Amino acid sequence: MTQPLLPGATLGMLGGGQLGRMFAQAARRMGYRVAVLTTEADSPAAQVADASTVAAYDDREAVTAFTRGVAAVTLEFENVPAAMAEAAASVAPVRPSGRLLEVAQNRLLEKEAVAGLGLPVGRFHPVVEEADLAAAAAAIPGGAILKTAESGYDGKGQRRLADASELEAAWSSLGRVPCILEELVPFVREISVVGARGVDGEVALFAPFENQHARQILDLTLWPAAVSEETAAAAERIARGVLEGLGVVGVLCVELFVLEDGSLLVNELAPRPHNSGHLTLEAAVSSQFEQQVRAVCGLPLGSPERRVGGAAMANLLGDLWADGEPDWAAALAVPGVSLHLYGKAEARPGRKMGHLTATGATRDEAEQRVQAARSALQRLTVPHA
Ligand code: AMP
Repeated sequence: MTQPLLPGATLGMLGGGQLGRMFAQAARRMGYRVAVLTTEADSPAAQVADASTVAAYDDREAVTAFTRGVAAVTLEFENVPAAMAEAAASVAPVRPSGRLLEVAQNRLLEKEAVAGLGLPVGRFHPVVEEADLAAAAAAIPGGAILKTAESGYDGKGQRRLADASELEAAWSSLGRVPCILEELVPFVREISVVGARGVDGEVALFAPFENQHARQILDLTLWPAAVSEETAAAAERIARGVLEGLGVVGVLCVELFVLEDGSLLVNELAPRPHNSGHLTLEAAVSSQFEQQVRAVCGLPLGSPERRVGGAAMANLLGDLWADGEPDWAAALAVPGVSLHLYGKAEARPGRKMGHLTATGATRDEAEQRVQAARSALQRLTVPHA
């Protein structure tokens, strides 16, 4: 077996957002140094890293030079060009691999890869060129969602269709770029499974998280998910199947729809820690970020077990700042609540600025606490300057 990268080594992070920030915090706690490559100075990750480079992700020279200074490279942003990850891989290990990025960057390749592993996905059809419209409409005649194959997230680049008669107009409104048409899945819940896979093939999975979205952006995560043991076990089998089938080294999230009868369909993959896993920082023995450090370094994975009865996470979007600074003290007066702010200077509507996590004896108690804390934020005490 290859030797693990031990504390003291410098780990390279492609991406400067909050996921990179929380990775850097976990890595530094364990004694690693962290270097960040990101397109913006003073990014959330750079603020807590040992070193940062500002460069475009497709700047081959910059990515290669950055990689020469680190022992391994990981990422927090799957839209790093796969070719750059491959270029970096000739200098140092890149975990996850450029090949995985290629799949995760494209919704069509991703759905085909998941289906190809024999795992359940909803009906879908490519809409890449004009000639695909008729076949796509015939395959999915009813309610559907048209999504751009590349560079969509949090509901961006998506159009809902009442039926196939709206397909051509929807495709035009998305700029007639390559798209995937998905049937509208009548799910009763959304869950996610975050897992890690080590260099030696060891897999550790967090039990499913339950996710609620608002305006197609994750709003609330609850742990454990309110699903049967069978459904939870099936979700974990699917996540294991993806991690093993795609040969992931690192952390990956599988988002799933739960249907009325408890069966599951994969919605999408994220080859990195995920917003729904943030509550593992307080609620699991080893957080998703610590698992990423361990997997990237070739160390044994930590325990994904819950260490509290229940946990809940509420996202804090820029909208919260609309009328002034949120009342942090009021939120922190709620027992069991932790505050995470990502160090972003500008609070734009819809922008993820931070999150609150609450733990409790039960999931319900944790949910009540996190909701109470988030509501308390809006009791303004400091007017806008
Ligand atoms: P996505 O960007 O694919 O994660 O989609 C964002 C959200 O839109 C999901 O979390 C779901 O709430 C909803 N959504 C996406 N795809 C579908 C689908 N095929 N059927 C029903 N709802 C969907």
